[in-house]
Amino acid sequence: MQLIQTAEAMRDEAEAARRKGRRLALVPTMGALHDGHRALVRRARKEAGHVTVSIFVNPTQFGPGEDLDTYPRDLDGDLDALETLGGVDAVFAPSAEEMYPLGAPQAWVEVEGLTDTLNGPHRPGHFRGVTTVVAKLFHLCRPHVGVFGEKDAQQLVILRRMARELHFGTEVAGVPTQREADGLACSSRNAYLSEEERAQAPVLAEAVCAAHGLIAGATEEQPAETVVGRMRAILGNAPLAEPQYVAVVGARDLQPLDAIVPGQDVLAATAVFFGDTRLIDNVFVTAGSG
Ligand code: AMP
Repeated sequence: MQLIQTAEAMRDEAEAARRKGRRLALVPTMGALHDGHRALVRRARKEAGHVTVSIFVNPTQFGPGEDLDTYPRDLDGDLDALETLGGVDAVFAPSAEEMYPLGAPQAWVEVEGLTDTLNGPHRPGHFRGVTTVVAKLFHLCRPHVGVFGEKDAQQLVILRRMARELHFGTEVAGVPTQREADGLACSSRNAYLSEEERAQAPVLAEAVCAAHGLIAGATEEQPAETVVGRMRAILGNAPLAEPQYVAVVGARDLQPLDAIVPGQDVLAATAVFFGDTRLIDNVFVTAGSG
């Protein structure tokens, strides 16, 4: 497993693998690796003969007052974890200066139309930071497939549109959300939770699980509000949970739905604060699929 820290070396390494006829997969992460990331790497290995994991805490996707400075960073621990897991050919761990050589970026990649719902309004500029850094990573590595988690469902939908619209020639693959034993979605931010908050945090998973059941069972048209109301009621059972949004949207356009119609692909999603810690969870489901 090769550790790469410059953009130029990343480009050269990927180019060499491509010349050998390998199919390339890239798994972008911000490090502090957990089982969710491990599932992405395993999927990448299935998809391609050459796997690169990037580890970069991307400053441009953090808003003022967000956790850029406190975000957990442990490159040595992450490298050990990837060695142990196996199947990774290269780790790209650049500095901020390497990724943003001109300082504050002067060119951005922005996807329109999918960022005005769910997390978008609550994290202004976040998705522009994500699409800009992923575009840079795709340009440096030129992977055949980029592997991302359904945990960040809105991000996944936005990146698919970016790759298609801008002709990256990179397939964007989605991996189902990996969860702790009690259902809480694995996240690097779970480490911020106090014992009491951690005990209540599985309420997000309970809410999306209930939404999944209601939507999958919708064999007749029904108001989306039924699902949103049920999710809110479940989140209300956790005294420390402060929901930021609870929404049922179309799985492709991410626009809020009034009604759920059998056969429709739907995303049920929520963001919840526990103190200063913001957690998200969501589920893709086809209405009436049983
Ligand atoms: P992050 O390091 O949090 O930026 O996440 C890097 C990638 O891992 C993103 O594509 C996430 O969607 C994905 N990911 C994070 N948590 C999970 C999870 N619990 N299950 C599956 N994928 C995840």
